[in-house]
Amino acid sequence: MSPQNTTLCCMLSVLGLALCTTYSDEAKAQNTQTQATYAVVEPPECTNDKGENIRFIDSNKGRAGMATGMAIRDQNGKPVVIRSNYANTPPEFQSFIDRHECAHHQTGDVDRPHPPRNSSAHLMNESISDCVAILRIRDEEGYDRAGFLKVATALRNEMAKIGFPEISISSRISNIDNCYTEYGSPQDFIDGVLKQRGLI
Ligand SMILES: [Zn+2]
Repeated sequence: MSPQNTTLCCMLSVLGLALCTTYSDEAKAQNTQTQATYAVVEPPECTNDKGENIRFIDSNKGRAGMATGMAIRDQNGKPVVIRSNYANTPPEFQSFIDRHECAHHQTGDVDRPHPPRNSSAHLMNESISDCVAILRIRDEEGYDRAGFLKVATALRNEMAKIGFPEISISSRISNIDNCYTEYGSPQDFIDGVLKQRGLI
């Protein structure tokens, strides 16, 4: 991994790579064999806090069968989201990952020093991106409670595939449920984060 890549913020990295090692090759083979495939959704609009347009790039890198996203600047310094193995997760969750990664650009995470993996600051960044993602899906796609549950179910399945413990899964779902139920527009939420960070 290049130094640039080590600063990536990766979907489902909330509790770190150590947990990934609990995922055996045997389980991986079984999952890959039984993996359903889905059409890949169109990416959403995405502009960062500096007004730059974010490009979404489809890739099949990363762990086979694992749908993930990464928010980074490419070698030319352009902001991008790398989408990996999206066909392996339902469209509702593809949309969630896109918006989660976009939020790392919108809130300035990508251009700020990256906090240590699993630090409270890192977990906070992930919670913020999850929150923006569910608010955007709610307001842009009109997801009702049934739609929310589809996202939550897919999130649960993806985290379970990697071997996250129940407490991590339920606390992440509880966070997006709270955002979905309690919060106003995604832009207001993003503006609040940017203000707190002194970025606007
Ligand atoms: Zn993230």
